[in-house]
Amino acid sequence: MSGPDALPRTVDVLIVGGGATGAGLLRDLARRGLRCLLVDKGDLASGTSGRYHGLLHSGGRYVARDPQAARECILENVVLRRIAPACIEDTGGLFVATPGDPEDYVAAFPGRCAAAGIPCDDLPLASVFEREPALNRGIWRAFRVPDASLEPWQLVAANLRDAAGRGSVARPYRQVVGIERNGAFVASVEIADVRSGTVERIAPRIVVTAAGAWAGRVAALAAIDLPMSPGKGTMLVYNQRMTDTVVNRCKAPSDGDIMVPVHTVAILGTTEVAVDDPDDDEAGPDEIEALVGEGEKLFPDLRRMRILRAYAGVRPLYSADAVAGPADGRAISRSHVVIDHERRDGVSNLVSIVGGKLTTYRLMAEQAADLVCAKLGVDRPCTTADEVLPDQGSERAYYWLGDRLAAHEAGGGGDAELICECELVSRPMLEGFLAERMPCSLDDVRRGTRLGMGPCQGAFCMIRAAGMIAGRDGSAVGDGPPAEAQALVDFMRERFRGTRSIAWGRQLQELWLSTGIYWGVLGIDALETPAPGQVPGEAGDGPG
Ligand SMILES: Cc1cc2nc3c(=O)[nH]c(=O)nc-3n(C[C@H](O)[C@H](O)[C@H](O)COP(=O)(O)OP(=O)(O)OC[C@H]3O[C@@H](n4cnc5c(N)ncnc54)[C@H](O)[C@@H]3O)c2cc1C
Repeated sequence: MSGPDALPRTVDVLIVGGGATGAGLLRDLARRGLRCLLVDKGDLASGTSGRYHGLLHSGGRYVARDPQAARECILENVVLRRIAPACIEDTGGLFVATPGDPEDYVAAFPGRCAAAGIPCDDLPLASVFEREPALNRGIWRAFRVPDASLEPWQLVAANLRDAAGRGSVARPYRQVVGIERNGAFVASVEIADVRSGTVERIAPRIVVTAAGAWAGRVAALAAIDLPMSPGKGTMLVYNQRMTDTVVNRCKAPSDGDIMVPVHTVAILGTTEVAVDDPDDDEAGPDEIEALVGEGEKLFPDLRRMRILRAYAGVRPLYSADAVAGPADGRAISRSHVVIDHERRDGVSNLVSIVGGKLTTYRLMAEQAADLVCAKLGVDRPCTTADEVLPDQGSERAYYWLGDRLAAHEAGGGGDAELICECELVSRPMLEGFLAERMPCSLDDVRRGTRLGMGPCQGAFCMIRAAGMIAGRDGSAVGDGPPAEAQALVDFMRERFRGTRSIAWGRQLQELWLSTGIYWGVLGIDALETPAPGQVPGEAGDGPG
């Protein structure tokens, strides 16, 4: 294959995986002067990084069981506030003791935070209830820590942009399907274009796997056994921010014990279920009931609030013991491990980076980049902790919920240019995204702009966005239905996957409204041929 879309033939480093870790590594290595290629089998940040809870950890969650992870979190929390302020909403965090929570855990919490270097203030309850009136009035103690809300897609995009400015390239929808070894050396890698089926072969000097929960599968392509212990976690998206502060239960980590305000919504999570298959990210009904049951200990009116959808992500947990069978996911450390396959397996130019948190992605990338540079004889220091990422705004201020409204009003306001009223996505914003990213799916648009993420969940805006895709270069792909029709079908499949498990009460009404618009008015079922026995719009994969 040749042409502008062909992969570069000669690169120093191939990075497998375009989540936060891979993007951070691309940036780090590019800044040290290496020419790198990153590939992802899906859209960038569509793996666990695009399906996580949204919390920039202070480390408070790990102080009892995993002090090393707690220390790493607070150090990187400080770094990310410096280099990526526009990706962070500085909500602050609370650790609260609800009735029945263990007194010894609560009593030890401030001391453990101090030991890990996490600022922790014991707050008067009156001030807590004044700030967060929806909280359970039975809460008997509350601590403030520097948790925050962290936007993953913007963060990944900013890392990639910095790398692109230094000659490194990131390509979505390119899957590593083969790794050819020449004894103790990776000789070449086969990369398939997921959309066209074309396969290319490249010969990088080093390959780094940053494939998260899929790292074991990538290693297996090189005939290496890497025991991962994928842990599925389900989260619920509510249609309102019942809290402006991240709220954690002050007890050992468990299900349904954190609520994170994220843009216009709030997300309750998570569960922890060991799965064999990292692609198993379906939210189960039992998990949803468990989450709501625990969540109402924090917010007693939770059952009366509307759940917009459920989604799940898979933790990239690495456990050297996992070969013996599924481990207790919450007992596996959230710290990360950089694996030099030369020392472990005798393959000199292969490295894996596994485990960790999104909060610690930069540190993970730094340590992996140090190893890569040592192998290639490059002696340049890491600069990613000090240099501010691109697109952080001239003021370098934290994101504020009113940012988009203020910008819209400054531009004259009104509804005419708004494509998505819930998330205030304007026509120029969407045009800019499409100009850069076509061909792309509406789910890619959702990740890139937040279109369709608000209370109507795309019922109105997706039709408009599909209209904007129509007729663009790259909108006609093969002989199938027009790209805009296919994009709508794919998006509705995806939405149905996230809403069918929570379709009751007012959300059921909302689902009927969307169904009426898409099936009744637009006749979306005429755009696809369902498989025998399949309800139109029922199958499909992608983020929930
Ligand atoms: C439910 C849940 C909640 C979480 N909440 C938090 C939180 O609040 N705060 C926090 O800091 N962390 C949180 N985490 C952890 C955090 O999300 C992950 O540690 C982090 O996102 C992992 O990023 P990554 O880049 O390593 O992996 P990923 O984001 O999964 O990226 C790996 C990429 O590799 C790609 N890939 C796989 N195989 C191939 C192949 N053969 N070829 C090409 N590409 C391939 C995948 O498509 C994927 O995009 C949570 C995790 C889960 C599951």
